[in-house]
Amino acid sequence: MGANNSEGHKAKNFIYEIIDNDMKTNKWGGRVHTRFPPEPNGYLHIGHAASICLNYGIARDYNGKFNLRFDDTNPEKEETEYVESIIEDVKWLGADFEDRIFYASDYFEQMYNWAVELIKKGKAYVDDLSAEEIREYRGTLTEPGKESPYRSRSIKENLDLFERMRKGEFKNGEKVLRAKIDMSSPNLNLRDPIMYRIVHAEHHRQGNAWCIYPTYDWAHGLEDSIERITHSICTLEFENHRPLYDWFLNELGIYHPQQIEFARINLNYTVMSKRKLLKLVQEKYVDGWDDPRMPTVSGLRRRGYTPEAIRNFTDNSGIAKRDKVSDISLLEFSIRDDLNKKAQRAMAVLKPLKVVIINYPENKIEELDAINNPEDHSMGSRKIPFCKEIYIEQTDFMENPPKGYYRLVPGGEVRLRYAYIIKCEEVIKNDKNEIVELRCSYDPDTKSGTGTSKKKVKGTIHWVSAKHAFEAEVRLYDRLFTVETPDAGKENDFLDFINSNSLEIISNALIEPSLKNSNPGDKFQFERLGYFCVDTKYSTKEKLVFNRTVGLKDSWTKKV
Ligand code: ATP
Ligand code: MG
Repeated sequence: MGANNSEGHKAKNFIYEIIDNDMKTNKWGGRVHTRFPPEPNGYLHIGHAASICLNYGIARDYNGKFNLRFDDTNPEKEETEYVESIIEDVKWLGADFEDRIFYASDYFEQMYNWAVELIKKGKAYVDDLSAEEIREYRGTLTEPGKESPYRSRSIKENLDLFERMRKGEFKNGEKVLRAKIDMSSPNLNLRDPIMYRIVHAEHHRQGNAWCIYPTYDWAHGLEDSIERITHSICTLEFENHRPLYDWFLNELGIYHPQQIEFARINLNYTVMSKRKLLKLVQEKYVDGWDDPRMPTVSGLRRRGYTPEAIRNFTDNSGIAKRDKVSDISLLEFSIRDDLNKKAQRAMAVLKPLKVVIINYPENKIEELDAINNPEDHSMGSRKIPFCKEIYIEQTDFMENPPKGYYRLVPGGEVRLRYAYIIKCEEVIKNDKNEIVELRCSYDPDTKSGTGTSKKKVKGTIHWVSAKHAFEAEVRLYDRLFTVETPDAGKENDFLDFINSNSLEIISNALIEPSLKNSNPGDKFQFERLGYFCVDTKYSTKEKLVFNRTVGLKDSWTKKV
């Protein structure tokens, strides 16, 4: 899309094209200033991440500035916990707001003064209608609205009432301040929208300083104006609000940013509404906002996602004018791609089956060489202990294999990764006829790398030394919902589509000893099993917990 602009980069999407043009016409004097304006009423999700990457990316690409601003205008739903999590997530994503962290609530006094200005111009009035009446009077898309009987109040009376609203003389819902625009406008947003509501509630930053709170529609454009934002990028549902923001800014005659709308990023097999995510948390369908199955930034981080993978995903899923749903496999692709380059390889056995190598000396321990990452030799190699007793994956042995099964079978041979070729000589079962142990022989000439034997086998499997491996908990995740669009139906229908098997806990997996001192957040590829990371919430010194970030697309043993 688009040619190189004066900054030398390619226009990445239609917003870049708009800005390129603004640069050419010198519309903003060469300035680019964007912002991310979350309401602190929940944790950030992948859609917010897309907005952050977009806004920050633009500021970076045009040598501009990027603000983090809390749209904290609704005291009843907002909390400091959310503010803190948002700051952490934005920083983690690499969006550098430097010292520019702002709060809409710090602008309340200025907003109040502007409201007074509109009242003085005869452009705002105090209304006594109830919320329900206001809704009724509003009309519909096909019918014009009706004017409130309070619409013709004098400026003097409006000023007095508004001041008394601020002083706390009225109860919640008793009065509102409305803009006086046009009750018959085809755009419902212009039918005398509410600017202030009375809310007697403690604000997480302002305490009880205020009992009137600005609505989003009144506040949002003012916040962008105060911060002298050049490109006020928002999602499509605000397209119809733009004429209202324009009206406010023009009536006040203040700095006027340019609003640009783009389509929300949606993901299949999940929900993105903060209200729905909150419900999952409150009703304990998940283990908190940072549950690794959640589409939240903190959930993805705990799951083992990297900021790079999230940035690549949001870049690749594109910024568009029309709504669309991105496939969750795109997100999985981006983390696999990133971790393939970065993650150290290791061996772990999730469901162990004991193997005794009958012709291997009793107390001998060999240190075998294993490369840490075949994609990046600078990551070096490590030693893996090998001895007479090892564990392999239960699924890597079959007594009655189907055709094309290249792993271990009675009398068959397989290569142990980084070690030797072994042959299954005997299958030991318990009295319930379950396989509990395999007795195998090994061929000393087949040692990986140095062996002289020309013998070749089709399958290679992973293993750990029984004596050296340590026990850990492993958590395997599946999609949180069983259908692609869980929130297509009515409000709470999405709860019917929760996947009851989205978490499998394996409490006694065995991990190669070199990982014993891993730190929370460390990431690995367990060969043939996927990418895993050490859980930051439940890992202890005694027992590490590994989250599976994502499975491997390809494994180096042919699948049955
Ligand atoms: P709500 O307003 O219902 O609480 P929200 O997701 O819009 O939910 P905000 O805190 O207002 O929450 O979002 C902050 C910013 O993130 C907004 O500018 C919004 O446009 C953007 N944003 C939110 N969801 C998405 C999404 N799915 N894709 C892209 N941008 C999004
Ligand atoms: Mg919003």
